[in-house]
Amino acid sequence: MTVSITIPESLKPEDGRFGSGPSKIRPEQIAALDAGATTLLGTSHRQSPVKQVVGSIREGLAEFFHLPDGYEVALGNGGASAFWEVACASLITRQAAFGTYGSFSAKFAASAANTPFLEKPVIFEGEPGTYRLPELTEGVDTYCWAHNETSTGVAAPIRRVPGSREAGALTVIDGTSAAGALPIDIAQTDVYYFSPQKAFGSDGGLWVAILSPEAIDRAAGVESSAHLEGARRWVPPFFSLTSALNNSRKDQTLNTPAVATLIMMANQIEWLNGNGGLAWAAARCAKSASILYTWAERSDYAHPFVTDPGARSNAVVTIDLDESVSASQVLAILRENGIVDAAGYRKLGRNQLRVGVFPSVEPSDVIAFTKCVDYVVEHLQ
Ligand SMILES: *Cc1c(COP(=O)(O)O)cnc(C)c1O
Repeated sequence: MTVSITIPESLKPEDGRFGSGPSKIRPEQIAALDAGATTLLGTSHRQSPVKQVVGSIREGLAEFFHLPDGYEVALGNGGASAFWEVACASLITRQAAFGTYGSFSAKFAASAANTPFLEKPVIFEGEPGTYRLPELTEGVDTYCWAHNETSTGVAAPIRRVPGSREAGALTVIDGTSAAGALPIDIAQTDVYYFSPQKAFGSDGGLWVAILSPEAIDRAAGVESSAHLEGARRWVPPFFSLTSALNNSRKDQTLNTPAVATLIMMANQIEWLNGNGGLAWAAARCAKSASILYTWAERSDYAHPFVTDPGARSNAVVTIDLDESVSASQVLAILRENGIVDAAGYRKLGRNQLRVGVFPSVEPSDVIAFTKCVDYVVEHLQ
């Protein structure tokens, strides 16, 4: 059944992009592309103008995350998905433990399980809509979980598994949809990695990783012993963390990056730092998220999917709709009206809205979003 509903202009958000990645790109970021149209775009990534952009990303992130002494920012091509393979090749010594509670946290665990030279990982599995942290396990040298499980809208706490540091283990956190939106104490992690197309409102294709001195040492050790006679490990150059770091220290990447992605990311980091950094960004996202959760709790046809308020994400908000209201129909009508990408994660298979409320999204547009959904539902009845 196709129904056409025209939402009054007065109710609509100024910007209709509510995706969880790719997410809204601010017009100023596009203006930055234009400003670099002949000086950056189409020029060598090994020359100073583009290297300065990479340098500004690395310095800007160091400021944004208040990096503890010795921590460094590395980047490379391939996005967070590629970083999972980097971690399997260059970081996990023998065995990792994973908290899995949704598609993204499970994908990294699957990569480790399929790596022929690693032992089978220890999996601590939680139900979608909750989180589960890995627990101290003998023999485990790397503990991994996701800060924000984008497929379900769950945010997990980031603090080291007690005893893990004393045992020499690393804490490797997928911050892909959390970085830039949720508070984080980087000292509780050895690796905090993410892609730029979520809170940093840029394009995909790049991974960024914040590395502790212990993570840097681990990669150097694992990679050098991989070449010893009899070692079964293969570290493809593309998955070498040490080589990514060595290039990053020169404000370069191993191979050619998308220069536009770098420019838009640098602009976003400048914007975030100029407004008050992570504290400002996290407060803004918390405000937008609370608009949605409060609306859903008061609504007679919607409710937050994540039942534990302490596990609800302030970056990606999931809202279940009653069976009487078809989410796919609501989403189709929203799309016709220019309000896009608020669909639930396909594989989760719920009658759900999922709204990316990253820092670029105006809280006033989030209020408008709720009004538009109410309008559509009312006119569907
Ligand atoms: C989006 C996402 C990824 C994958 O990022 P790509 O850049 O597409 O590889 C991984 N983890 C989480 C938590 C994500 O949200």
